[in-house]
Amino acid sequence: MNKITNHLPTAELQALDAAHHMHPFTANAELAAKGARVIKSASGVWLTDSDGNRYLDAMAGLWCVNLGYGRHELAEVAAAQMRELPYYNTFFQTTHVPAIALAERLAELAPGDLNHVFFAAGGSEANDTNIRLVRTYWAAQGKPEKQVIISRKNAYHGSSMGSASLGGMTYMHEQGAMPIPGIVHIDQPHWWAEGGDMSPEEFGIARARQLAEKIDEIGEDKVAAFIAEPIQGAGGVIVPPDSYWPEVKRILAERDILFIADEVICGFGRTGNWFGSQTLDLQPDIMTIAKGLSSGYQPIGGSIVSDRVAEGLSRTEFNHGYTYSGHPVASAVALENLRILDEEGIVERVGTDTAPYLAERWATLAEHPLVGEARICGMMGSLALTPDKAARAPFAKVGEAGMAVREACFANGLVMRAVGDRMIISPPLIISRDEIDLLIARATMALDDGQ
Ligand code: PLP
Repeated sequence: MNKITNHLPTAELQALDAAHHMHPFTANAELAAKGARVIKSASGVWLTDSDGNRYLDAMAGLWCVNLGYGRHELAEVAAAQMRELPYYNTFFQTTHVPAIALAERLAELAPGDLNHVFFAAGGSEANDTNIRLVRTYWAAQGKPEKQVIISRKNAYHGSSMGSASLGGMTYMHEQGAMPIPGIVHIDQPHWWAEGGDMSPEEFGIARARQLAEKIDEIGEDKVAAFIAEPIQGAGGVIVPPDSYWPEVKRILAERDILFIADEVICGFGRTGNWFGSQTLDLQPDIMTIAKGLSSGYQPIGGSIVSDRVAEGLSRTEFNHGYTYSGHPVASAVALENLRILDEEGIVERVGTDTAPYLAERWATLAEHPLVGEARICGMMGSLALTPDKAARAPFAKVGEAGMAVREACFANGLVMRAVGDRMIISPPLIISRDEIDLLIARATMALDDGQ
């Protein structure tokens, strides 16, 4: 019988973990030397590890626990749904109430005519759906040559072959023969690192125009779609210059290609509206969703599709689907999560109160000698660490400063993530003003310690 419980000593849990558990995105040599941090329980914005240390989780897990930890209503809904109908598929002309109810609610929340939902178990699966969906859509319109998808360097769209190919992380492409054919990448709107002598506004326009140039180079008749996160998250919370998105919108409006907004991080309140597309005034043809959809309490994701695209596919059998598409327990939990986010006014409070307060406090970190820029949109923010603010210079050994500050955060009871030398946050949306003060105080201590 398996005797592994929360009560085993940390060292024993770490040894068992090292012996049997393969971790995603983890430096294995470092893990073997230090052992994994064992997280035991959580409540609100607080995590507790197996030694009883408490951390303010400024990452909401992996950008997903929007509602915060410990909401028992979600556990109760999951248990009730498991008793009534733990599983049934949505293939072959069948459906069930949780999937219907969640799809209807998402159609209500999503902007414009995004009224149709194709479910998946997470964001990677949903983006794989999107690759096949846009290509199948154009084929169904009699334009099978419209196949190429344009994405951006340093974007993150998932870890499967398709979604990682959409992503612009070269260190991922190097493992496993990616990108798959028909996916090309343009530059990201990352002014601080790549803007040179241009003003942010000039740079935003220049980067947006790369989209037009790329479409013209390939030929509009061969391009199926452009995919982008409204704000790049895992790339380092790259908040684009204000000029970027209006110019991209203008370019897209003149060309007949589909726009996929990857809302896996930006969705469900993170930017102060239900979707990042609303904050940035975008009207996508498809939105990728996951993470905050269930606040991470159940694995679920999907694609929300416009009337035009759904109608274009309606006479075709789309030979695609996942065993867990519209999983009843995950759907019921997601629906309850959306109910709470709405009825407790959490999304509204982020937009009108806590995000503006966090922005004000976050900006003060730019005065720290180690910080070159402090950017934020809603509840997602980043700090660029630099040895020379005026020159916007990178460190000679990229990633070392970020790692030092990240470790100093843990020592100060704060979870912040490092992407190279960018420190990033994405706290639960229920974070209070007092907890924001604590986050800033601990981040300042960590920056001091990490210097
Ligand atoms: N898209 C974006 C923007 C993401 O940030 C992520 C995950 O971090 C994904 C897609 C992939 O989602 P998942 O890890 O649920 O497959």
